[in-house]
Amino acid sequence: DTSLSPRVKSLKPSKTMVITDLAATLVQSGVPVIRLAAGEPDFDTPQIVAEAGMNAIRDGFTRYTLNAGITELREAICHKLKEENGLSYAPDQILVSNGAKQSLLQAVLAVCSPGDEVIIPAPYWVSYTEQARLADATPVIIPTKISDNFLLNPKDLESKLTEKSRLLILCSPSNPTGSVYPKSLLEEIARIVAKHPRLMVLSDEIYEHIIYAPATHTSFASLPNMYERTLTVNGFSKAFAMTGWRLGYLAGPKHIVAACSKLQGQVSSGASSIAQKAGVAALGLGKAGGETVAEMVKAYRERRDFLVKNFREMEGAKISEPQGAFYLFIDFSAYYGSEVEGFGLISDSSSLALYFLDKFQVAMVPGDAFGDDTCIRISYATSLDVLRAAVVKIRKALEPLR
Ligand code: PLP
Repeated sequence: DTSLSPRVKSLKPSKTMVITDLAATLVQSGVPVIRLAAGEPDFDTPQIVAEAGMNAIRDGFTRYTLNAGITELREAICHKLKEENGLSYAPDQILVSNGAKQSLLQAVLAVCSPGDEVIIPAPYWVSYTEQARLADATPVIIPTKISDNFLLNPKDLESKLTEKSRLLILCSPSNPTGSVYPKSLLEEIARIVAKHPRLMVLSDEIYEHIIYAPATHTSFASLPNMYERTLTVNGFSKAFAMTGWRLGYLAGPKHIVAACSKLQGQVSSGASSIAQKAGVAALGLGKAGGETVAEMVKAYRERRDFLVKNFREMEGAKISEPQGAFYLFIDFSAYYGSEVEGFGLISDSSSLALYFLDKFQVAMVPGDAFGDDTCIRISYATSLDVLRAAVVKIRKALEPLR
């Protein structure tokens, strides 16, 4: 269609949608589908947080706020970053947006010029590459290995950097792999970043609180000499089960945050006043979300342990034990090349995911969507009962493939 802009035409639609839509269609026609595709907590927003939102409505706190976010929330975010991450920011270094996704896009648009390179380790979250394209920048993908727990190899990073390298996007804990970057590895990466003065780091820390001890979270900006070089993105969707509230934020050097704020002023005029009040309450739950978040993390951990145990026993499935987030990224490539009667050839992650859905009613996202076609992503933000049923079905589905 020549009537559409080249910018939009170059964008890839979200591949996670294909499976999600198909699953929804099946559900509508009465087929019970086990849904393990969505990247969304199965918990409700904590009551006290929801109440704060409802109070905001009752109190008539329903008007435009400051574009950058209400001072109360930005101050609470500064406090959180200081207490939990060892980072000192002033409220004018914080920009509150409609979800971390918007924070990320604005950061990419603010720092990238056409032709700049955005370095993205794969497997990556689906939007990074497309957001780079929206900035007319070039995504440069660096594959990682399951045997390295899907962590970026510093040598690979070094070999890909050029004078055009502008942004390195890190995501820890990671969607889709659940990997958590150890501090020592981040320090190595920081030493490389330090040698490339034009390179900045966009650190997506949205799964920070969903982490399984002994793994610990390190904010990239807290590393030596990285404060000025890092844009930190975080949000409320995952840890506080607040996906529908649309609330996230960016922290970074003042001039870059100001640029993002200018952009946001022409795009959305800031986040919802109601969600922001809820955000203040969420941060009031205590360090790392206090008991409320700890309970959710405990449940995620049990589910992770259950899946890891079961998939470790499955011949032909390869995994790296996730240390955070609520995903398991499983290498099923040993089964590629199988021909299934009544279905056809399973040649890649898309055909395998389609097979699981079509023949066994289990919806998962093909790894291809995340830049790794050997794997399939399971979201375990669902009950143990559902996961038990899923494992039985997946085992059954794989049987004829051997
Ligand atoms: N970053 C990662 C890695 C995510 O998985 C998601 C949500 O799926 C986001 C950012 C966006 O979150 P939000 O709901 O705050 O826009």
